[in-house]
Amino acid sequence: TKYSKDDIRAIAAKENVKFLRLMFTDLYGTIKNVEVPITQLDKVLDNKMMFDGSSINGFVRIEESDMLLYPDLSTWMIFPWENEHGKVARLICAVHNADETPFMGDPRNNLMRIIDEMRELGFTDFNIGPEPEFFLFKLDETTGKPTIDLNDKGSYFDLAPIDLGENCRRDIVLELENMGFDVEASHHEVAPGQHEVDFKYADAVHACDNIQTFKLVVKTVARKHGLHATFMPKPLAGIAGSGMHFNMSLFNEKGNAFFDENGPEQLSQDAYYFLGGLMKHARGFTAITNPIVNSYKRLVPGYEAPVYVAWSGHNRSPLVRVPIARGASTRLELRSADPSANPYLAVATVLAAGLDGLKNKIEPPKAVDRNIYAMDEQERKENGIHDLPSNLHNAIKAMRQDEVVKAALGEHLYENFVEAKKLETAAYRQEVSEWEREQYLTMY
Ligand code: GLN
Ligand code: MG
Ligand code: MG
Ligand code: MG
Repeated sequence: TKYSKDDIRAIAAKENVKFLRLMFTDLYGTIKNVEVPITQLDKVLDNKMMFDGSSINGFVRIEESDMLLYPDLSTWMIFPWENEHGKVARLICAVHNADETPFMGDPRNNLMRIIDEMRELGFTDFNIGPEPEFFLFKLDETTGKPTIDLNDKGSYFDLAPIDLGENCRRDIVLELENMGFDVEASHHEVAPGQHEVDFKYADAVHACDNIQTFKLVVKTVARKHGLHATFMPKPLAGIAGSGMHFNMSLFNEKGNAFFDENGPEQLSQDAYYFLGGLMKHARGFTAITNPIVNSYKRLVPGYEAPVYVAWSGHNRSPLVRVPIARGASTRLELRSADPSANPYLAVATVLAAGLDGLKNKIEPPKAVDRNIYAMDEQERKENGIHDLPSNLHNAIKAMRQDEVVKAALGEHLYENFVEAKKLETAAYRQEVSEWEREQYLTMY
């Protein structure tokens, strides 16, 4: 929604808003917020709010830590949660340097930079419809800490009473609707305790804002039900992990640029080039769409998560699927991304990959409509099907060789990301797991 400064002043007064949360996202995708009393509203609206950026992951060095917050007025929202002191509203902000230039370590600013590049190529919008999945675990009744006890034994599209998460999920949906979300569907997922809520597509930046808000709402509502919601990609071995599929469409002045009534499969040449770019850079952007050690425990055969770089219009196993809808709803579904991804970084790199395909007229490999998991290595080779990186270390290696992905992150984000992930993979390598002891302790 479009709000002017005066609209916001008027709504804040009428609704008795007492506190403002100024939000932005750090390198890891964690929402950060500075809360200020409503008396600071004018200062906030005039882009005068200062904060110390030195303690934010992936932000700046100590000597240049003063940063400014520029609120994006279109993100104004009042939280529906009651508060004894009055209401709390939020504004998502762009982080600027003390000299007022946009700070390029802010993932949201960086996404806007890629959107500008898209506009220069003659497109108007990149829309994303996300499908985030998550697990609900019971909280320990005495300590209040999350356990790994699932709260139900349900499965795909099951109904209550098997699905004990139902009340919680319904509350999540109601709360989201209170906050202006257009929820299209919510259902139990394949694994016990696993759920999915799909909300309406939006332009790239607002879709990412929505994902961030969504996670906050899911976690808050789950707590009220004595549950812990997690977006960790693979919390339990042996059952499905949680993905966050991206349904993506590109628009120009004439409408959906992926649709062509007369094209092969009714897809436009642009759709094929975009797909070509996705296929070419898939290994390079996986470190961003699947950024944690645990992400790679999900990308294994047998759980509807992709393992190979391939696409299909008819088969659900590949990295990119073309859902059956055409016309204005024509879209490509990227199935590798998981909800631990920083959405702003993930969308920026995926969009840059597609744009590279358009700029350089990259034709995608042939569609693979057979079950890739039934092929042997030789057959996959003959069909030009590559593996996705098998762990975070290999994903970082692939990213470092991909100039398009690097450019899509910009120097600041790229350097900080690689640095952080080197520490993470190094720490992980030193761990000895329960599995190893079980396998080897008595065997050797
Ligand atoms: N949970 C699966 C994944 O890891 C997706 C299942 C589905 O939505 N069909 O991506
Ligand atoms: Mg779905
Ligand atoms: Mg799903
Ligand atoms: Mg899907």
